[in-house]
Amino acid sequence: MSSAIEVRGLRKTYPSKKNGEKIAVAGIDLQVKSGEIFALLGPNGAGKTTTVEILEGYRDRDCGEVSVLGFDPNNLGSNGSKWRNKIGIVLQSTKDAEDLTVSEVVSHFAKYYSNPKDPLNVIESVGLSDKSKARINTLSGGQRRRLDVALGIIGRPEILFLDEPTTGFDPEARRAFWDLIRALKSEGVTILLTTHYLDEAEALADRVAVIVDGKIIETSTPENLGGRNTAKARVSWLENGSRKEVLTDFPTKEVTNLVERFGEEVPELTVTRPTLEEIYISLIGGEVE
Ligand code: ATP
Repeated sequence: MSSAIEVRGLRKTYPSKKNGEKIAVAGIDLQVKSGEIFALLGPNGAGKTTTVEILEGYRDRDCGEVSVLGFDPNNLGSNGSKWRNKIGIVLQSTKDAEDLTVSEVVSHFAKYYSNPKDPLNVIESVGLSDKSKARINTLSGGQRRRLDVALGIIGRPEILFLDEPTTGFDPEARRAFWDLIRALKSEGVTILLTTHYLDEAEALADRVAVIVDGKIIETSTPENLGGRNTAKARVSWLENGSRKEVLTDFPTKEVTNLVERFGEEVPELTVTRPTLEEIYISLIGGEVE
């Protein structure tokens, strides 16, 4: 499988009043395969947005090699418009065109691309059909975010950058958004997203990278991150009015023993493995000061 994104040795510092400079990205290597959904996870200030903005061509880097769809976003030369035509971007928030309606702004953005999607279909796919005649400044936060997503996909991108796409979405809207992202993946779109929602990363991502203090501390599938697939299972049940639990590599044996001992239904029996969130917290807990 070819790479949609290749990053080697990426570094970025910002000037800082406190101590001269702030290292935002401290030497990142990254490879995102064509057609994959890749999630960047990490605490506030870890360097996710800076990395994504460099890949989008919005930010200069100090050093490192970057290739997005075969081009260096900071050195596009005469390929600029050809490259931008293949890139979809959903920023953390946009504040333009407050007086326009949803359908006006989506139709307007469509004109920037050579082969855009149908604006009405895009508005429907993000669940804004009943707001298509509403002015942008009357939308709720979550509706506004859905509009941002519509603007990111209107150009039929080959690669879509989503920076915290579902912040402010209600649970139903989040699930509808996940379906939309899966549909884009099935069309072959490569997707790089940042998110603070571990359930979102688990639901969508083929692979995740955890960034802390500008460095990637692990890249893996959501299932295998931090040894999650080999972590002990937690068997828990109710006995004499209190909850008991055992951590074990052999949960089936443990449950069989419990069934024999109780001779009937084991009260409130559960068998669980660590969630992605638990693994993530323990991973970053060891790294954050
Ligand atoms: P969040 O999850 O909060 O969005 P992030 O992982 O996206 O965080 P970045 O926005 O990339 O993190 O910020 C990385 C670091 O760089 C932070 O310490 C931030 O304060 C700093 N930083 C970001 N943008 C600038 C800027 N324009 N000028 C100076 N410092 C900046």
